[in-house]
Amino acid sequence: MVNLKAVFANHLKGISLKIARLFLLLSLLSWLFYTPTGLAQQGQQQGPVYIVQEGDTLWEIASRFRVSVEDLQLANNITNANQLAVGDQLVIPGLDGVEGVLTTRQLGYGENLLSLTRNYDIHVETLVRLNRLISPAELYSNSVLILPDASQTISNTQRTLLAPGQSLLELAALHRTNPWTIVNTNDLPATWGALPGDVLLTNSLQGSENGSAAPGALPSEIREVQLNPGRLQQGKAAVLTIVSRDELQLEGSFMDHDLHFFPDGNGQYIALQGVHALAEPGIYPLDLQITLEGEMPFEFSQMVRVAAVDYPYDEPLNVNPTTIDPAVTKPEDAQWAELTAPASPERYWSGIFSIPSPFSREYCLETGECWSSRYGNRRSYNGSPYNFFHTGLDIVGKTGTEIYAAAPGVVVFAGPLTVRGNATVIDHGWGVYTAYMHQSEILVTQGDRVEAGQLIGLIGDTGRVEGPHLHWEVWAGGVQVDPLDWLTEEFP
Ligand SMILES: [Zn+2]
Repeated sequence: MVNLKAVFANHLKGISLKIARLFLLLSLLSWLFYTPTGLAQQGQQQGPVYIVQEGDTLWEIASRFRVSVEDLQLANNITNANQLAVGDQLVIPGLDGVEGVLTTRQLGYGENLLSLTRNYDIHVETLVRLNRLISPAELYSNSVLILPDASQTISNTQRTLLAPGQSLLELAALHRTNPWTIVNTNDLPATWGALPGDVLLTNSLQGSENGSAAPGALPSEIREVQLNPGRLQQGKAAVLTIVSRDELQLEGSFMDHDLHFFPDGNGQYIALQGVHALAEPGIYPLDLQITLEGEMPFEFSQMVRVAAVDYPYDEPLNVNPTTIDPAVTKPEDAQWAELTAPASPERYWSGIFSIPSPFSREYCLETGECWSSRYGNRRSYNGSPYNFFHTGLDIVGKTGTEIYAAAPGVVVFAGPLTVRGNATVIDHGWGVYTAYMHQSEILVTQGDRVEAGQLIGLIGDTGRVEGPHLHWEVWAGGVQVDPLDWLTEEFP
């Protein structure tokens, strides 16, 4: 108000009282309208505004925007750091040239620097500076970015793929728009700045197809991409779901495995891929190739974070030396991996798996008494380093205890092996398998169609064991995953 008074006084000198009154009114009005509801009402500091979210603390906000708590307090006249309330608007100091309302958002799979700049109409340099980005690898799926508020996304646009051999002029003509509008909307240097395979924003008469979480770097036929970060962990089965109203051919790869996508009949294409229990935590590229009918394949790659799981270390184990001799284990492991590598297009299972023993699932989950060893435990055999892990769930039982199929499927292996003993493998489709080891008796043969709960064998102590039990494995995308997840959660 100090400045207003000064300006008011200056104007009073030379201008008629009538104009001065109008000016005062306008000033007061603008002051009223531009006053944020929260803490940033002093207006001493210029800069973008951040709206306080649930769970935010002043320290956390300061660290996110890399300003000191003191500067943040000073800019917003905050005397008590605990007075922060959800919905408060904080001015963020030190971000010259950045305006508007900022928020933080988890980046989905299917977005990149270009799609973000186009969707929010923000320059690449601003986005890079705002997030202190050093490399595009930092834009991994589920990374948290500082972005303009969702209300600032470009409206009435749709994603359009610049086809190979197509010029921007042709694209503009096709969409009845001016090529320079496309250049401006997409932050291109000129009409030659767009490359084939580029996903551009064009005007849409049907209204906006974009949202702040749309996979903006993918062709518009891809409506949504789901990739649950909770399953991107050692020993978990990741589920990648791609939603499209159009017929697609999808291929992809992740952590040295080809992804196998299957349509669910409701416009969703689903791939299940296990993350190895001993995989190094970090970021890995997830490559995707999307082919729409009659078009060239569209390729996309984005980093995805894989988290560690704190699996315990078992006491060192002593077993028959033959069962850890690489001359024996290597060919058997290769045979085992080969059995579980194909992804059959028919999905036989639905819902959660049933426990493959006479115990009730509820009793076992509640007490944990039904398993003698869980999946993922780090292991040492006969004094070796801890570079083994427990590949399944050990279910307690005596020789002769019944074994049931955990889900419907087709038996793809039933026979004796050195390490695994008498073993059975069931294919449930879509690259999902269950395996049953150390049996005293196998009661099915290869090619049998089995139902969930069907008797398939008897518990025993054949192979690399210290006593009778059922070692039960679940495979997804050629990788052993935690069977307990499949007893408690529905996949996909
Ligand atoms: Zn086991």
